[in-house]
Amino acid sequence: MRRAPNVGAASAKAATPFMRQYLAAKAEHPDAFLFFRMGDFYELFFEDAVAVAGLLGLTLTSRNKQDPEPIPMCGVPWHQRDPYVARLLRQGHKVAICDQLEEPAPGKKLVARGVTEVLTPGSVTGDTFLEPATNNFLAALWPAEDRVGACLADASTGEVKLLEAGWAEAGAVLARVRVAEWLLPDPLEDALRARCEAVIAGLGGARSRVPVARFLDEARLPARWGDDVIERYADLPRALAAASAALDYLDRTQGGAALQMTRVERWREDATLRYDAATARHLELFQPQPGGETKHTLWHHLNLSVTAPGSRRLRAWIERPLGTLGEIERRQDAVAAWLAPDAPRASFREALRGFPDLDRLSSRIACGKATPRDLGSLRDALQRLPDLAAGLGGLPGASIAEAREALAGIPELESLLAGALVDEPPPVSKEGGILRPGFDEVRDGLYELAHSGKRWIAELEASERTRTGIPSLKVGYNKVFGYYLEVTNAHRDKVPADWERRQTITTAERYVTPALKARESEVLGAEDKLRAREHERFVELREFAGRFVVRLQAAADALARLDAESSLAEAAARYGWVRPAIEDSDRLVIEGARHPVVERLLPRGEFVPNDVRLDATRRQILLLTGPNMGGKSTYLRQIALVVLLAQCGAWVPAERATIGLVDRLFTRVGAADRLGAGQSTFMVEMSETADILRSASARSVVLLDEIGRGTATYDGLALAWAVTEHLHHAAGPRPRTVFATHYHELTQLAETLPRLANVHVSVKEWGEGIVFLHRIADGPADRSYGIHVAQLAGLPAPVIERAREVLAELESERTVEHLEAAKPAKRRAKPEAAEPELSLFGAPAPHPLADELARLDVNALTPLAALQRLAEWKERFGR
Ligand code: ADP
Ligand code: MG
Repeated sequence: MRRAPNVGAASAKAATPFMRQYLAAKAEHPDAFLFFRMGDFYELFFEDAVAVAGLLGLTLTSRNKQDPEPIPMCGVPWHQRDPYVARLLRQGHKVAICDQLEEPAPGKKLVARGVTEVLTPGSVTGDTFLEPATNNFLAALWPAEDRVGACLADASTGEVKLLEAGWAEAGAVLARVRVAEWLLPDPLEDALRARCEAVIAGLGGARSRVPVARFLDEARLPARWGDDVIERYADLPRALAAASAALDYLDRTQGGAALQMTRVERWREDATLRYDAATARHLELFQPQPGGETKHTLWHHLNLSVTAPGSRRLRAWIERPLGTLGEIERRQDAVAAWLAPDAPRASFREALRGFPDLDRLSSRIACGKATPRDLGSLRDALQRLPDLAAGLGGLPGASIAEAREALAGIPELESLLAGALVDEPPPVSKEGGILRPGFDEVRDGLYELAHSGKRWIAELEASERTRTGIPSLKVGYNKVFGYYLEVTNAHRDKVPADWERRQTITTAERYVTPALKARESEVLGAEDKLRAREHERFVELREFAGRFVVRLQAAADALARLDAESSLAEAAARYGWVRPAIEDSDRLVIEGARHPVVERLLPRGEFVPNDVRLDATRRQILLLTGPNMGGKSTYLRQIALVVLLAQCGAWVPAERATIGLVDRLFTRVGAADRLGAGQSTFMVEMSETADILRSASARSVVLLDEIGRGTATYDGLALAWAVTEHLHHAAGPRPRTVFATHYHELTQLAETLPRLANVHVSVKEWGEGIVFLHRIADGPADRSYGIHVAQLAGLPAPVIERAREVLAELESERTVEHLEAAKPAKRRAKPEAAEPELSLFGAPAPHPLADELARLDVNALTPLAALQRLAEWKERFGR
């Protein structure tokens, strides 16, 4: 990250008390940019200034310009601080805020200053710094040789997730959620550090180190959560150590106890449908593949929730689908309730629109960070709760009843806030303008005093004009001299003797009178007191609201859930999805399955639905063959997405679906999508495949797309062959598997493996060419379609003819024995390129499309990218 500030160079200039003050504050927070409050600005100095000016595009100036070595400086107006800070946080930096701890007063040389807050990517609570629709986790890790304890803490919502697991499993979890900042112990043994690095690599988020002692503080958690909570997690000592460090870190960065961190939960992987980061990427759940668009993701179409907390909840459900029948059915029942013909889905969603983020509001209230504007939002939220509860109408079900109770409202808090706050309270608490007249007598008195004084001063202008006969006389105000009477030079001689001259400007003179000064101090004094009084009463209000945090969180929780459930119902209704039957079996039967995203992006009715029939006892492995662009990858992905949606409790894009509970879902694509990480495609592919063979069970679903491509044809084929056998083997894991492959040789496996069935994507010959039907049918594919594709692409007739001959020759040799005993000479005769169909283009290919096809790595394409490519070609080649 950043270099340490240049304190050495600075100390030479530390002669002034001001600089000493700055350097002392900076020394406490060497890894953060120090925002140093000076009057109306936050200033940065030295290397901080140089770096931040670059990062934010600010003008770099300098302090003490006359010095031989001036100090670099840049700054932002105090009230515009947060958007700038937010940009630094998003780039993974930290910011320490050094504020003025007292009002600057005339005559006082140096204002007391101190760091009041440290803002880091993983500990912030303000809306400006946060993404509305995702959790913002701080992940503390407490590593050991064989396992790791982790605490995922979201300061903005008060959620704390405790997890203790082996490295591989923990790595999969941490890759699935969005971590904004990592917290590691310091010092850390090299071996353990390397393990942590391996987990974090490529995941993004800032890194922070804290002393080991903060992980080992045994008093912190019981004091915060109570002994019974700690006992409940006694089997997760490493996760508790991580939690201890995380809470300590949040306390320190927030400059006060992080009391919002109460929603403690165990992160259990065994009761969920697990999938790893590679699967999430291949399925484009939240992120499109490189070069793709947001609309290619499942999230883009599935997330129809109307509030940010609803989105976060839904996202968490997809990140961690359910793993038990009971839970899935409960969620399905909740979704079903919203789909009943008379369910108030539309009206409820409409009523929920624009509802404040009560989750994050309650967190800020709990930790004393809520602003007057936040309390205003809370008031508005509380006023809307009864309507929302009523809006649930007669919806049935235990979960709705529970929600109705949580939405009961908090009348005593609501009426207090309604009486106390102005309609639109300001975003800061120290500048007044918060309270409604009539709420606080002292405040009203000060307000009256300040304003009567101002009125008196305003009237003075008129009365002094009359008294002195100076028509241009004006009352003005500036920071240095306070209120004054200004007289233009032409009327100077009419100034009465009791006026005192204070300032001369080119066109006028400025005066004060004893009466004016007396009023002025009254006005200014009253205004100061008024602001202080409002702040004081505001803090009281916030503390009072803090007593209701548990109830507020319960209401927030209920609303997030209702939003997420009703949005799943909305998706089901909008897209024509069905409720899947989930059962405790090894079957996977889907009729008329569609790909939820590809279907949306094709013209209506163009997507061809397909059936899936798998079970671990008779039809465990489907070997899917067929020409490129036939729809193999799309088929695989839609199976995965249907399983995933089903176990989230969602409805699925199919006509009917019966799904035997799945414990793990694996998808692997033999493509070069991780070359950036420095491993070769083949290495990645094989280590991912090894992971499947190690961790799949009879309850898993495995979808392999062209595995083996990354190496020479024979190696790849042999490996694909062995992997398939292993998955099939009676003593092996026996997961339900679909294997899409271009290795036509593998179709022979059906002869020896009883639970393996061949299926293919069908194409129809149409005159000279072929048409892709995108329909999956039983039996192996006809090999000659590669040549049809070539023909379609416009290869000259003699080349096509020759290709047919070569194919026939190869076909006759295609046996297992041949595979094992292949002679080098024959190997060379065999097309070497990874794609047998395409390799025929090795002959001179005059048509530009043939050229394009030959260069295309079809399997690195997502189905949608392929679609785009096809459209492009149609444009260019007129087909
Ligand atoms: P393969 O993996 O066999 O090369 P893809 O799954 O990548 O084929 O599909 C190629 C293209 O065909 C996709 O871009 C998609 O638009 C289209 N396609 C795939 N499956 C279907 C389907 N079931 N219905 C309609 N179009 C489909
Ligand atoms: Mg494919």
